Amino acid sequence: MKYLDEYRDHRIARALAVEIGQRVTRPWVLMEICGGQTHTIMRYGIDELLPRSLELVHGPGCPVCVTPLETIDKAIELALRPDVMLVSYGDMLRVPGSRSDLFRAKAQGADVRIAYSSMEAVRLARANPDRKVVFLAIGFETTAPANAMAAWQAKRDVLTNFSMLVSHVLVPPAIRALMVSRENRVQAFIAPGHVCTVMGCAEYESLVRDFRVPIVVGGFEPVDLLEAVLMLVRQLEAGEAKLENQYVRSVSYAGNVPAQQIMAEVFEVADQKWRGIGSIPESGLRLRDEYAAYDANRVFDLAVISVEEPAECISAQVLQGLKKPTDCPAFGMRCTPENPLGAPMVSAEGACAAYYHYRRHAVAS
Ligand code: SF4
Repeated sequence: MKYLDEYRDHRIARALAVEIGQRVTRPWVLMEICGGQTHTIMRYGIDELLPRSLELVHGPGCPVCVTPLETIDKAIELALRPDVMLVSYGDMLRVPGSRSDLFRAKAQGADVRIAYSSMEAVRLARANPDRKVVFLAIGFETTAPANAMAAWQAKRDVLTNFSMLVSHVLVPPAIRALMVSRENRVQAFIAPGHVCTVMGCAEYESLVRDFRVPIVVGGFEPVDLLEAVLMLVRQLEAGEAKLENQYVRSVSYAGNVPAQQIMAEVFEVADQKWRGIGSIPESGLRLRDEYAAYDANRVFDLAVISVEEPAECISAQVLQGLKKPTDCPAFGMRCTPENPLGAPMVSAEGACAAYYHYRRHAVAS
């Protein structure tokens, strides 16, 4: 298949791994930001092809994993109201809140629906004028344009029974927060290709400049990731720090300008809490005042709440590349995809789920 087979070709992958091995002369720590990239690395054993001195750690780019506990709790509270229909992506249903999850709320009789797009939620609102339809709008810059479009469409249609519980996060401020952390070990980043398809590359320039850190925008297939690693290794070994784009078949420097425009029309940048990590300045999106009628927080006058993460879950350290999922004492024992203690074990992009599906043997043996 064009644009797929050549990026999974084992001969090309092995040749890249050999070149990486020849170029690495000292230990380096690289982080892939996106959970989709983490799953490819685990699934194809890419880390096992690399020299031992080259460590890949996994970043906070799993949208389900970083959605705050408080947002899950609010979604459950709304879902349990008799006049509300809560619409969510399927991944979110099993994500634990502080006391329950949406799946259990649904079992208790809450009207929880799974949607594959935000526009499906708009259609549900149109078809059910007697229900208050709330869409759980989470994710990175990748999903933000579609969610912005849903709010824009609802406003244009003067829908009065549609709102969104928004928890959108932005990648560059998270990289900045990682770089200023005193615990940081990461020396170079593979930036997330899907996010950059929307946002372009320009906003990563200041990170490269401010921290002298190499960043390569990378794709999601094995050859993409090995190529991105090689580009980073070349820079690191040469003492350089540049922004490069490996994922040129999808990402342009400017990105998808119409998508950025609809985001800017509907959302504004705000401080955002990341699950387990805490609040990061200007790292999220909230609905603008012009869209207040579509903001579930304001429509339902939801209180600002603050809840603690379960002490046993070390997902905050996993999401910052400080620990691997297999370092967690609960991994594969008390925490499994069927009975998750933390979000990274639930999500299709979660690092703990990736290790569970592809590396469980490493713990069992
Ligand atoms: S294995 Fe489970 S408990 Fe441990 S960090 Fe991952 S999600 Fe949290």
